[in-house]
Amino acid sequence: MVAILIPSVLVTALGLVTVFEADHFVKDFVRDGYREDLENVTEALEYEWKENLDHFKELLVDANARGAYLAAIREDPFVIDVLYSRRGELTRVEAGKPYPELLSNRKNSALLAAIRMESVEGKDAEALMLYRPLLSHRDPTVVLGALLGAARSSRELEDSSDSIRYLDLALARFGSTVDGSGMVRKFPLLYQKFKLLKRRGQPEAAEVARTLLRTLDEESFRVSAEVAAVYRDALSEHVSSAVQAKAPAFSIDAELMKSLLAPLHKAASSVNSECLVSRLQAGERELLFLTVPTDEAAFVVHLLLDSARFLAQLAEVKDRLHLGDALLLPALPSGSLLDPQKKAGAEEFLVAKALPSPLSHLELRYFPEPGGLPVGFRSFEVLTLATFTWAVMLLVLVIMVGVFYTLRYVLRETRTARLKSDFVSFISHELKTPLAAIKMFTETLREGRVSGEEEQQECLELIERESDRLSSLIDKVLAYSKVESEQKAFQFGSCNMAEVVDEAISLFHAHTSDRPREVKLHSVQDISNIQMDRASMIEVVLNLLSNAAKYSPSETDIIVNIRETVDAIAVEVVDKGVGIPKRDHRRIFEKFFRSDDLLTREVEGTGLGLAFSRYIAKVHNGDIRVSSQPESGSVFTLQLKKTHVLAE
Ligand code: ADP
Repeated sequence: MVAILIPSVLVTALGLVTVFEADHFVKDFVRDGYREDLENVTEALEYEWKENLDHFKELLVDANARGAYLAAIREDPFVIDVLYSRRGELTRVEAGKPYPELLSNRKNSALLAAIRMESVEGKDAEALMLYRPLLSHRDPTVVLGALLGAARSSRELEDSSDSIRYLDLALARFGSTVDGSGMVRKFPLLYQKFKLLKRRGQPEAAEVARTLLRTLDEESFRVSAEVAAVYRDALSEHVSSAVQAKAPAFSIDAELMKSLLAPLHKAASSVNSECLVSRLQAGERELLFLTVPTDEAAFVVHLLLDSARFLAQLAEVKDRLHLGDALLLPALPSGSLLDPQKKAGAEEFLVAKALPSPLSHLELRYFPEPGGLPVGFRSFEVLTLATFTWAVMLLVLVIMVGVFYTLRYVLRETRTARLKSDFVSFISHELKTPLAAIKMFTETLREGRVSGEEEQQECLELIERESDRLSSLIDKVLAYSKVESEQKAFQFGSCNMAEVVDEAISLFHAHTSDRPREVKLHSVQDISNIQMDRASMIEVVLNLLSNAAKYSPSETDIIVNIRETVDAIAVEVVDKGVGIPKRDHRRIFEKFFRSDDLLTREVEGTGLGLAFSRYIAKVHNGDIRVSSQPESGSVFTLQLKKTHVLAE
């Protein structure tokens, strides 16, 4: 019981451990896959974002060049606003309006003075006075600068008709030239004109807008699609219906901006060459600032960046990494998702990772689709998992086979132990019976209770017979124990099977002289000689004969057939006795086994005969087989292969 219980408990525990481990293994494996995907995404984003930031830095860090680019940077989709601080003062770069640095490398000092007057000192009337004489300058770039400056100053002075006049002049003379960034001047000039007319509420505004739109269509090859789209976007509304200014994507009050940036500015001035990315909370909106110190210590540029624009690159990266379906959502480390509506029912995120700069304050969470697999998992790692699954299945199989054999062994041992104890009680009984008879007859003789010579003779014969029975029983047990402990020595010699069988039959008759049985022998004439241990072989045949006699009615015959084929010699012992049920066919060859049949129980026996006989047959490279059915007799066949034992 314990022998069965302990392996069962061990196997169950092992099974549970395996299943538990498998669960962990698979979960870890899946999580590793997602982690790797996430790693790839953040790495790609880091690269992209760094490129963007580097691009800005490159543009801004050189103080001489920055002037030419500040307005252009403002057009960048990632940039919401551009501010620069100079000697502690923060200024917002307005689209289209140049500021001192823009033209700082121009040679004409009169134009520079006019520009400085206009934008630094804010004295537009004086600036206009300075611009006017320059309109007839021989250098066309100076003329253009003066025209634009005059248009701006007039506008600031609320003299829009003058401003429009200057713009018209610039349009007529420089409309089809291009500026430093490659833009055909006609477009911004027309746009300026449109804005002025619109501000005055003049109906010509719509006309100018139409002209600009038409020109954009006609000269689409001269302007980039993005810029054209911006103009179209700005103009189409005015052309169509009411003049309504389009709300900017994001606007921030200049005052608020200044107060927000004050600490930032201080921080930036302490940073030398590195950029500083900082976040400021303006009401609901979170602002990202890239502060770039330039090589001119007092001049610092701040870019107000659109974090949504940065996050939009996530979709692109996901597509590129074939993670289109994966739900990757940015979240604040505090727990809330940036866009809670996007959660789409996903309750649990498997892995999360911090985003790179400039959004390093956010983390990216991976909500895998139910049933979805990470990219890494879809490829070769599946093999590892399959191997693992197979290994687990194999292990379970091995355990099952192990348990099966253990149980079988345990059951067999239990049965052998029971048979052994049966055998011991049987032997003691078998030994006691002849001993009791011997004792009884000896006493009778000693006490002279026999009447005559004849009776005395009879007593002595009985004593002799019982002693013989006793000694034959002891011989049998000893012979088997010799066989079992492999002490039996065999002496092989060339023998004829027919002679062996003859001798066994005569011995059989001698043993059963008190209850004679007919044995019919069928044999072919010439039976080959083969190598065998003659005495053992006689013993085997005798054993089969005495079994046939024991387990069949005395009036039936026993038939012995000797056959020879090319490679084997067979001795068949056929009886018409009780037969053996199919389920016992194998077991009758086990030691101590005796069939439960009633008749068998009544017959003397040890359960050792067949085990002993088969052992001898196997030593001779042969075997004993049985073919039998209950009630219709049995056929025991001793078969010896001629190979190896064939005599010359
Ligand atoms: P024993 O005959 O001493 O019991 P054996 O090993 O010779 O031991 O036989 C084992 C068992 O096989 C017997 O107890 C009997 O049940 C069965 N058996 C053997 N030979 C025959 C036979 N010729 N007919 C029916 N049963 C047989």
